[in-house]
Amino acid sequence: MGKVLVIGCGGVAGVAIQKCAANAEVFGEICIASRTVSKCDDLKAAIEAKGTKAKITTRKVDADNVEELKALINEVKPDVVLNLALPYQDLTIMDACLACGVHYVDTANYECEDTNDPEWRKTYEARCKEKGFTAYFDYSWQWAYKKRYEEAGLTAILGTGFDPGVTSVFTAYALKHYFDEIHTIDILDCNGGDHGYPFATNFNPEINLREVSANGSYWENGKWVETEPMEIKRVYNFDGVGEKDMYLLHHEEIESLAQNIPGVKRIRFFMTFGQSYLTHMKCLENVGMLGTEPVEFNGQEIVPIQFLRRLLPDPASLGPRTVGKTNIGCIFTGVKDGKEKHVYIYNVCDHQECYKEVGSQAISYTTGVPAMIGTAMLMQGLWKKPGVFTVEEFDPDPYMDMLNKWGLPWQVDENPVLVD
Ligand code: NDP
Repeated sequence: MGKVLVIGCGGVAGVAIQKCAANAEVFGEICIASRTVSKCDDLKAAIEAKGTKAKITTRKVDADNVEELKALINEVKPDVVLNLALPYQDLTIMDACLACGVHYVDTANYECEDTNDPEWRKTYEARCKEKGFTAYFDYSWQWAYKKRYEEAGLTAILGTGFDPGVTSVFTAYALKHYFDEIHTIDILDCNGGDHGYPFATNFNPEINLREVSANGSYWENGKWVETEPMEIKRVYNFDGVGEKDMYLLHHEEIESLAQNIPGVKRIRFFMTFGQSYLTHMKCLENVGMLGTEPVEFNGQEIVPIQFLRRLLPDPASLGPRTVGKTNIGCIFTGVKDGKEKHVYIYNVCDHQECYKEVGSQAISYTTGVPAMIGTAMLMQGLWKKPGVFTVEEFDPDPYMDMLNKWGLPWQVDENPVLVD
């Protein structure tokens, strides 16, 4: 039995913490720490009311402040810190873990909150030139910690949500069991859920809208190819959902899979969007509501996208209203024993089933469950080696077993329809 310190107490953390509490053999003690401590207290009370063998405590922390984080970690003395705050806090939490000698896990790569910060911009612009993609997030910031984590004998596991996360574990599993060499990977993220609002995002609106309104990109023949936002559209018929429009986006696992899957020639990421979502987003973008730079209004500084977040439904509140299913997975092509082979590994998840089980919709569920699993891999010593790693760098088998056991069963289709 070990102790986990979870930082953040939003939609994803709500699910991950409930799953940790249900897995008290591994997570004997759970400390929930976040900016708004009342959310941590409410979650603790709800879990205890249902019954758990885990001991749960709560704390308040500002995860932008390394000294505050260090004091918290030294007081709580966890085996692992699970970062489920926002990507903005990845580096401060990694710094604090390093200083306190504690392992680190997260679900999304570092993103700078203020993209106009001149220091950050200098590095960002150099990276855009060198690598050829313009997304505001990339792994370079966290990969820069590799040597320090190695020297400290600590493990950092990056990106154990669904995508990134399960999609990368699916890739490692396909390579281990189905292919000698994988040539193409298409990651398909389909949300067939309907929450009844004309416009809402399924996870943190700020992070979601920044991702979706950015240029798309994919990896082909050793380099990045960048597209206009939503330039490449395909239609796919998803098991459990039906036919959906999907659009090519930049996504962080492309970057790590391109490095870690030998011989891969092309990696693309597609996400489904309905027309109403796209029309609203374009309109908000056109009037400046997705801006990250503060504007002055009535003597107060307001960041447009943060104000928009206040107006939009809280993703955590979508649970009771969302019906339908998600289908997320990867289509692989490659060779096995000299023969061409195609394999599709995917999970179908039902929004209402998730709500019944943990009180939230499938997007938080499909992220929160793998966050618990990745942390359990580390706590149990199954995925533990000094350094900074993405999940495809470990043995996928125990993680795949836990997906089946903890609510995200997967299927393998050896004759899938390919995406052109
Ligand atoms: P939410 O906005 O619902 O929750 C974020 C939580 O972090 C809130 O509790 C918030 O506190 C807390 N927080 C924010 N800033 C700080 C701070 N400075 N100090 C302490 N706590 C802070 O986000 P989600 O739960 O939707 O997302 C959580 C993470 O999961 C994000 O990094 C997101 O990118 C990632 N994600 C990954 C996916 C994947 O498949 N890999 C998919 C979906 C999300 P407060 O309550 O005060 O606002």
